[in-house]
Amino acid sequence: MGKASRLFNGQAEQTLHAKVTPSTEQRDFLQQRWNNLADHLKARLAQHGYGISTWLQGSYKYGTLIKPVKWGDQYDVDLGLYFEWEPQAGQPEPAPGQLRTWVQRELHSYKENAPELKEVAEPAKERCSRAIFTRRFHIDTPTYHLDPQSDKRRLATLSGKWEDSDPKALYKWFKKVQSGAEREQMRRLIRYLKAWAAVAFEGADDARPSSIVLTVLTAQIYESMWLERFGGIDDEDALILVVKRMYARLTESAEVWNPVNRKENLNRISAAAWPVFMTRLTALLDCADAAEAAHDEFAAACAWSAAFSYLMPLPETDLVEVEQDSTRMAIMQVPDVRIEVAEDVDFKTSVNTHENEVVEVAKNRWLRFSIANPQLVPPMASIEWTVRNDGADAESLGDLGHTQGGIGLHQVVERTAYAGKQYMDLVIRLNGTVYAARRVAVHIRDNHQLGQKRATPRAWLSLRTRKGRRR
Ligand SMILES: [Mg+2]
Repeated sequence: MGKASRLFNGQAEQTLHAKVTPSTEQRDFLQQRWNNLADHLKARLAQHGYGISTWLQGSYKYGTLIKPVKWGDQYDVDLGLYFEWEPQAGQPEPAPGQLRTWVQRELHSYKENAPELKEVAEPAKERCSRAIFTRRFHIDTPTYHLDPQSDKRRLATLSGKWEDSDPKALYKWFKKVQSGAEREQMRRLIRYLKAWAAVAFEGADDARPSSIVLTVLTAQIYESMWLERFGGIDDEDALILVVKRMYARLTESAEVWNPVNRKENLNRISAAAWPVFMTRLTALLDCADAAEAAHDEFAAACAWSAAFSYLMPLPETDLVEVEQDSTRMAIMQVPDVRIEVAEDVDFKTSVNTHENEVVEVAKNRWLRFSIANPQLVPPMASIEWTVRNDGADAESLGDLGHTQGGIGLHQVVERTAYAGKQYMDLVIRLNGTVYAARRVAVHIRDNHQLGQKRATPRAWLSLRTRKGRRR
């Protein structure tokens, strides 16, 4: 059993799956918005004399949609538009560019009466138009010709070509790969990998794998894992296996053929960006290996956090002592963290000071976290500070956390922006080995909630873990 499986999709206070999966309300909200847009487009585009239908495709359809997990990310909804006609010899038919012009024009007309539509991307993308909304989502509208007689689809590109592309056939294939609980697990695995792609390709956007590539590869690998799945496999062990096989598979060949159209390579990462992708996939494999070798939940969670960053939850604890294998002695005393609260970024108007936990703080305050006993930290140790946000407030804005670290980084400054319980996690590593960790809980309240709950003194929860192998 995976050591950290509880933190993937189990009974933990926070799980990776819950962190990246939209709530029912969030999905309903998106559905309402694309329904409205679809109604508008169907009515307006019908004036050109062709039958118009729409079909939701992409992650929403596949049940693999993830939240925007970092600042600036948006929900991605794909709404296919279908112009229907039967091609007949000698009959003129609209060119691909014509369909794209009509669609782009109607998106602009929708904007006139929909204040939540912020922008229609100009120029349109090669394979779709994009409507960008407030509240962190966009709707892409790939546009197709549908021949109702043969049930064949082709995509209209901006550069004026018809592209052989049938999203419905691929979706049917996906639905057939697995069913029931296994399909649900496969969807979770795809979500984990999409979350990894969202956070692990900072500064290398052109090397980021697309959702469809991750979906197809994961589905094919999951299918091949029939023996391992026979007696049931937890999400963490399944992910370790998927990552290993994906690495082996992509080392052999960079091509990812569309399973329903053997002429289409779904992998669009350029040859120049491919080595960048492979390096990051190697780093993920390294994390999976370290998690597999980990002695306990904390060590496994720490290993995964090198791939998933602030999205990977840590076990519920206040401090973690790491013991030397041979002597069972703690390698280092866990440092204390002092937290100064101020109204301004220069800390001139200080409010108060806390140690190891902030029992209550208002929004829009500045917090300075510093190691109270820095002499405990070896000079070349790397000091990692990770904010893990939780609570509805942070989620609706899609800011789930961030991380910073470095040698000698004894203090960091943060601002409280969201109500809810959040963590500042301090992890100290030397040569890649975790030496100690402390989780500082920060309870941020809306002004009207302040003073309602008085903190009662409590005992610190501590965990012991064994010194892991070098990563
Ligand atoms: Mg899209």
